[in-house]
Amino acid sequence: MRREEAGELARNRGFSNWGFFPAEKLRFLTEVRDMCVADRCGKFGKTWTCPPACGTLEEITGRARAYSWGILLQTTGQMEDAFDAETLVDAMEKQKENFGAYVEGIRKDYPGEDILPMSSGGCDLCGTCTYPEETCRFPEQAVPSMEAYGLLVTEVCELAGIPYYYGKNTITFSSCILFH
Ligand code: SF4
Repeated sequence: MRREEAGELARNRGFSNWGFFPAEKLRFLTEVRDMCVADRCGKFGKTWTCPPACGTLEEITGRARAYSWGILLQTTGQMEDAFDAETLVDAMEKQKENFGAYVEGIRKDYPGEDILPMSSGGCDLCGTCTYPEETCRFPEQAVPSMEAYGLLVTEVCELAGIPYYYGKNTITFSSCILFH
């Protein structure tokens, strides 16, 4: 798949912004994984896609190193003020929905394309995750977060040449996909 096609798909899907980056420049940081352990998002040890179930940093990044480029996809919401939780949740849901559809679209229309998607936040496809009692219900759709891969989103934005922050009272969610 070419970058132009990936960008066109992002436009059609309705992302606010996107940018491309060289995969070899990604840094998979222990410090970011340490933040997972601190459990500020409440997902540590709660899903198959988050640490510790997703594997050690070395295990999970082993596959990522085989890819050559990536696209960073964003949804930005303009809040009325810092307490506008409705817009924040809307932007988060829109990002999840668009990202899932984007990944599904590539898998359907480019069946030979080996991609590695990384979401914003841990998997919440199911009301209650089966972890750790039973295996994942949707292993094809369950995607680890960028943080699970030890990626600092601000750093990936810089690599992709697009902002992390779009100004006062904005909220932005970012996900990415790696390509060969
Ligand atoms: S798809 Fe369901 S079972 Fe699998 S990780 Fe996500 S929430 Fe858990």
